[in-house]
Amino acid sequence: MPIRRRLFEGLSWRLEARAAASPPPTGDRIRGCAGRMMGLARAHDCLPDIEQQAAILCFHGITERPDPEVEDNVLSLRNFRRLLDVLKRSFRVIGLAELVACINEHRSPPPKSIVVTFDDGYACCHEIAAGELALRRMPWSVFLPAHLIETGGRQWLDDVRVLIHRGERKRIVLHWDGRAVEFDLSTPERRSAAVKQIIETCRYLPESQRRPRFEELLSLFSEDEIAFLRDQYPSFAPMTWQQARELKLAGVDVGSHGLSHIALAPQRPDFIRHELTAARDLLQQRIGDHSPHFSYPYGRPAAMSPDTESLIREMGYHCAVTLEQEIVRCEACNLMALPRLIVSAQVGRVLFGLWQRFL
Ligand SMILES: [Zn+2]
Repeated sequence: MPIRRRLFEGLSWRLEARAAASPPPTGDRIRGCAGRMMGLARAHDCLPDIEQQAAILCFHGITERPDPEVEDNVLSLRNFRRLLDVLKRSFRVIGLAELVACINEHRSPPPKSIVVTFDDGYACCHEIAAGELALRRMPWSVFLPAHLIETGGRQWLDDVRVLIHRGERKRIVLHWDGRAVEFDLSTPERRSAAVKQIIETCRYLPESQRRPRFEELLSLFSEDEIAFLRDQYPSFAPMTWQQARELKLAGVDVGSHGLSHIALAPQRPDFIRHELTAARDLLQQRIGDHSPHFSYPYGRPAAMSPDTESLIREMGYHCAVTLEQEIVRCEACNLMALPRLIVSAQVGRVLFGLWQRFL
């Protein structure tokens, strides 16, 4: 084994052991620093070539200067460029269709293959990310929640982040299942805890329960305040159909992310079918044939089910991607539930994770 790799390997395991033994924020900091350092030292250049493995990365938004409290999955442009440069130098970025073909034909993808995907169809994908990826000649996929693109609507959980963190209210009371739930929003830590609790409690509910909860939250803020706060966060704005068409014309793989960006599995079967077919029809009307790739909204086990999977297959999609935090092991993977690694705002942590996973 080359001496450089042995050195980085020994160091990374030692740091991982320290990170795992520390409380989560400290552990993340250790991983982040280690990844940044490894990026600078070009550690990823000496990763071994392992057959039959690939990583699919899931990005969300890119912005010039993210607000880390509110935009937790949004990368700064500087970090995005830094990450793409490491990918360009030390990995092989391939398209999702190429990975699917390798899996179907039982051949190994090129060593250290990475697939770049963007969920949620934010306008910043078109306005910022597309140019950076084109500059480096990297293929990529974007998954659109069709109804949000159609209406220019924001995602409810982005609204929760913006309103709770940056709204004027210092305390709110919501009524869930006839029970009053009070949230103290007097400090940034309490606001973060409230965002987490609201999102985690509502994310996997049937629409008939989630929607009234969200509408009650919206009703606590004036229309002017909501509009003002949304304006402060352009990274959460959806792209337009025109932008989607331009991406498709430029060769970007444009797939479906459902209709209204809700977790599918908890919904009634006819509702799930509607979410899938109406999304497909709307995409067809607005951009023509879209790619045969689907991305599960929320992508965790609670958002997926065997019935949903067979519906997606029945509709002719060639693969569906999830947010199960794993790399793809081509010999034993399910094309209807391909795992992806979420790219967080801390590029150091992403680089550290890639190193550990490809070792
Ligand atoms: Zn999504």
